[in-house]
Amino acid sequence: MNLSQRMQTLTGGGSDGWDVFIKARKMIAEGTPVTELTIGEHDIRTAALILQDMHKSALGGHTGYAMVPGTDTLRDTVAKRTSERTGVPTTHDNVLITPGGQSALFAAHAAACDPGDTALYLDPYYATYPGTIRGVSAIPHAIQTRAEDAFQPRASDITAHAQTAKSLLINSPNNPTGTVYSRDTLVGIAKVCMDNDLWLISDEVYDTQVWEGEHISPQSLPDMAERTLVVGSMSKSHAMTGSRCGWVIGPEKVIAHLITFATHTTYGVPGFIQDASVFALDQGPNFEAEIAAPFKRRRAIAQRVLSGQNTIGLIPTQGAMYLMLDIRATGMTGDDFANALLDEHHVAVMPGESFGQAAAGHIRVAMTIDDADFEQALHTLTAFAEARAA
Ligand code: PMP
Repeated sequence: MNLSQRMQTLTGGGSDGWDVFIKARKMIAEGTPVTELTIGEHDIRTAALILQDMHKSALGGHTGYAMVPGTDTLRDTVAKRTSERTGVPTTHDNVLITPGGQSALFAAHAAACDPGDTALYLDPYYATYPGTIRGVSAIPHAIQTRAEDAFQPRASDITAHAQTAKSLLINSPNNPTGTVYSRDTLVGIAKVCMDNDLWLISDEVYDTQVWEGEHISPQSLPDMAERTLVVGSMSKSHAMTGSRCGWVIGPEKVIAHLITFATHTTYGVPGFIQDASVFALDQGPNFEAEIAAPFKRRRAIAQRVLSGQNTIGLIPTQGAMYLMLDIRATGMTGDDFANALLDEHHVAVMPGESFGQAAAGHIRVAMTIDDADFEQALHTLTAFAEARAA
């Protein structure tokens, strides 16, 4: 029996980018301690108060099928938060609750693209993007951003490929680079989308992790709400990665179709998870800032540690839980650097090449371990890079 081409070619025939991560996990399973700076997951767990609310909801009986579009309360809460944060009038009819941002990315591409359509995305990119696009039988096309621009995309680079495309996927604050797109960047992107009639899929799962400047949702730019599908999630903002709760925000007509799509794919998100998400969102912006605070602190630690040397370049990033480091002065590829660092010093980072061509010669460091260990790991990493450069 043959599987569909879609399944067989989901990762494009290459590695899915997780090799070093898998190798590190194997070493740990075999008893070797490894400092893991790989995965985008907080070093704290979901807050006890949120879990208590989840427990209360489940014991209270919210364990049956939940409403497929999401509960009215959660859709209202997400809509209100979006209106407050962006100024775009949003009601629950603009919101579909999904099992995490990943599922929202898939649904948004299913809404935007027919089989065979070209879907644009920006390199470097979060590792699931091309597979998500192939998952809806569209054709992923990466557009490179540049290290010398601190990975702010250039509208002219996108324009060159926009005519034949159906959608453009962006992500700010960005994983893996930490770049927060400026207003100018977003205005340029919006113009390309309008000139070429593209859907804009805006992955904003890191919207609470901004260390400098401000997060601007492109749906708030003139005439963009009607062609923008925003992907959001509880994972990063509320340390609820395992709860699998996210959303798509878009025009009412699109959401109506996506509700039908959800009926035939996910059939909704558990009610007790949605209730706990309402509780978590009701804690307000101060709670979100508390969840984000460790990354902001560690970014400052990294700026301090790396300021004393010239071998590693710290890409000047403004958000998200990652650092993008330029290690080209070592003469190594990101892949070789990450593998050697893991083998020799038991520190695991992600090679830039896991995220596309534009981040070759770079590594991504997740700021997801405690401050003292993080600082120690950076010293180890720097000493290793300096020795290799020499
Ligand atoms: N988008 C980006 C850029 C991510 O980094 C992640 C998770 N690492 C997701 C989407 C998906 O997150 P989730 O499904 O947990 O909401």
